[in-house]
Amino acid sequence: MTKLVARFGFVFALLLAVTLACPGTAFAKKLNVVTATTDLAALAQEVGGEKINVNSIAKGYQDPHFVEAKPSFLLQLRQADLLVVVGLQLEIGWLPPLITQSGNPRIQVGANGYFDASQFAEILEIPSGAITRAMGDVHPLGNPHYWLDPENGRRVAKGIVAKLGEMDAEDAAYFQQRYQDFARRLSEAEKNWDAQMKPFRGRKVVTYHNSLPNFAKQFGLEVVGFVEPRPGIPPTPSHTLDVINMMKRDGVKVIMVEPYFDRKTPDAIARETGGTVVEYLPSVGGVKDVNTYFQLFDYDIALLTKAFQ
Ligand SMILES: [Zn+2]
Repeated sequence: MTKLVARFGFVFALLLAVTLACPGTAFAKKLNVVTATTDLAALAQEVGGEKINVNSIAKGYQDPHFVEAKPSFLLQLRQADLLVVVGLQLEIGWLPPLITQSGNPRIQVGANGYFDASQFAEILEIPSGAITRAMGDVHPLGNPHYWLDPENGRRVAKGIVAKLGEMDAEDAAYFQQRYQDFARRLSEAEKNWDAQMKPFRGRKVVTYHNSLPNFAKQFGLEVVGFVEPRPGIPPTPSHTLDVINMMKRDGVKVIMVEPYFDRKTPDAIARETGGTVVEYLPSVGGVKDVNTYFQLFDYDIALLTKAFQ
């Protein structure tokens, strides 16, 4: 019996070794894609279909700026053929040491399997002049929440398709086909989203974190203030008072809050201003039934239109 187990163990180890040594061969047909966030995983899944395995490190209900590292992340990264990151230093607080510690040469920064999705997206709020983190700004290279504009989802998906086709040339046509289908479905969905948001174009909102410039641009909202005094800096009494006064003066009634922030300050602002707190989702997987890139916009737009009515 022991001998048998030992023998199985040996065969298993051999298979594992062959699989790890030959990514892309018959032993490991599917590319292992690891993404920093769920939105990138959703986009990769759209175009990769059944030819890839996709795992996101951060969960959709977590603040992507601050993710607590777990040993299981290292295991995922060790086996990855491709790592897709948001970039613009969104993940700087947690991902770089994991990449290094994974010891996986395929996904090190600059390697063929390291993919920075921000290079494909339209980036807003790129600062001019000297960049300093002294003020605690977590958006030093421009706004990293760019996936909340469907056009950027399209662009990033297109970039991922090119990369997948390069890594798995045999399935390049399959990936292309899936991208075409995704882009077509996205265009249809966009018509629907635009129609729903059309009556509310020009509406002013306050958001907790500065997560929504791309979304606001796409759907015609005006973000006039933030609960955080600066991105990544918790609310202060004096800043909160300024926000309340501004909202009263300008008749702003909607406060959009990401699910991972404390509701105390936004709830207090809502009470003072007669406004409504909308707990919107910045990412796929923020709640149980939002599992695709499409469902993310469906969910948020339904919430917003209800709040505006
Ligand atoms: Zn941010």
